Amino acid sequence: MKPIVCKFGGSSLADGTNILKVCDILKSNPQRKYVVVSAPGKRFSGDIKVTDLLYQCFREATEKGDCSETFSKIRKRFTSIVEELGMNGFDIASILDETEKQIDEQRSADFTASRGEYLNARIIAAKLGWTFIDAKDIIFFKENGTLDEARSYPEIDRRLKECAGAVIPGFYGTDSEGKIRTFSRGGSDISGSIVARAVNAELYENWTDVSGFLACDPRIVNSPEKIEVISFKELRELSYMGANVLHADSIFPVRKGDIPIKIKNTFRPEDAGTLILPSKKYVLQGNIVTGIAGKKDFTVIFLEKSMMNGEIGFARRVLSVLEKHKICFEHMPSGIDTLSLVIESRYLSGGLLDVLLEEIKEAVHPDYIRVLENIALVATVGHGMASSIGTSAKLFRALSDAEINVRLIDQGSSELNIIVGIDNDDYEKCVRAIYHAFFSKKSEEK
Ligand code: ADP
Ligand code: ASP
Ligand code: MG
Repeated sequence: MKPIVCKFGGSSLADGTNILKVCDILKSNPQRKYVVVSAPGKRFSGDIKVTDLLYQCFREATEKGDCSETFSKIRKRFTSIVEELGMNGFDIASILDETEKQIDEQRSADFTASRGEYLNARIIAAKLGWTFIDAKDIIFFKENGTLDEARSYPEIDRRLKECAGAVIPGFYGTDSEGKIRTFSRGGSDISGSIVARAVNAELYENWTDVSGFLACDPRIVNSPEKIEVISFKELRELSYMGANVLHADSIFPVRKGDIPIKIKNTFRPEDAGTLILPSKKYVLQGNIVTGIAGKKDFTVIFLEKSMMNGEIGFARRVLSVLEKHKICFEHMPSGIDTLSLVIESRYLSGGLLDVLLEEIKEAVHPDYIRVLENIALVATVGHGMASSIGTSAKLFRALSDAEINVRLIDQGSSELNIIVGIDNDDYEKCVRAIYHAFFSKKSEEK
């Protein structure tokens, strides 16, 4: 019987009571042998995630020489988790002392941030009576920062095969110099996917605090429809565009192994959740649109030059300016005489935008150059859009009825998505307008 790999997010592991629920879920199915855990998340709105406290510890240790002030909050959280779990014999105090010392000595942001997962995994492994396997010994990065698959997968498989049950901390591994390196935020989802791929799991269960992937952000539309089945491609588009229920990079390892993902709710384990399938197993669902997601704070650089399309190397010269400054762009819609670059505004702070504009002018001598700031992007995603006539008409009618000024349009070449750029201030209104145009269920607006 192939194993199921589970990953529990911080929202499922915020305190001892929740961890007990997690232990029940794991013990209720013998196929659930390997579990990847996050650091404790928020217990209530306004609470601080342990990972955020750890980043604060790192700043404190760097500025003041020790992190004792903030570390005392972390100490309190883990001590009360151990108490709530009734683990009287577990010497959490010594483990915390050692961790605090290492944070002060190592002065590494990644090492410090990884300790939330490390400590939580040690506690949960002891509670379950399963083996703790440190991610530093099984997940390896190459010099360029990507996963060293040839080294990691066999080692994970080898170590896990020896265990009846194992708990692995998410979010980190070891870099090519032997130091702890983390993924980007939310990266335990990637760790879970790597483990699932390494052991050739039957399923990768990703447990969180919602009953599946919803058609849009539940913080914008009240109880949006749940997505029953979604393809890896759709998921990638939605998670990349801000539906942060699953990290956008987490699909790559499982996709290679054709392993489905299921999003499940720790607090309603009986709910069906969302099944995420590789393309060859995915059958088109009835909906035209599968989901809507978006992000704020982009800058658009709009260039116009007559006969631009006939000028060989025009786009390359523009892009080489970005390359020189190591800036990624999100989209590059273009016409015969126009080209726009959509870039996350955070890359352009500290006067860099002005530098880029000057260098682009010098490189391609545009007739006209204009900058739009404070732009939000909203992606409407679904395989059904390609075969359904009138989808874009419906979308743009909904936006015009809501009096939203569309500043930019980009239809992906896969016909899987339509992306609109609008003012940041119109973001929530735009998501609601598109949602209501394509989903019949009336949801109360937030
Ligand atoms: P975890 O702690 O389990 O990793 P996250 O906070 O990373 O959980 O992700 C779950 C959260 O993602 C939900 O609580 C929800 O608020 C948010 N979210 C945003 N967009 C969506 C969406 N389309 N579907 C479901 N949840 C979403
Ligand atoms: N704890 C890390 C974070 O908050 C990783 C994760 O939860 O996936 O980003
Ligand atoms: Mg997460």
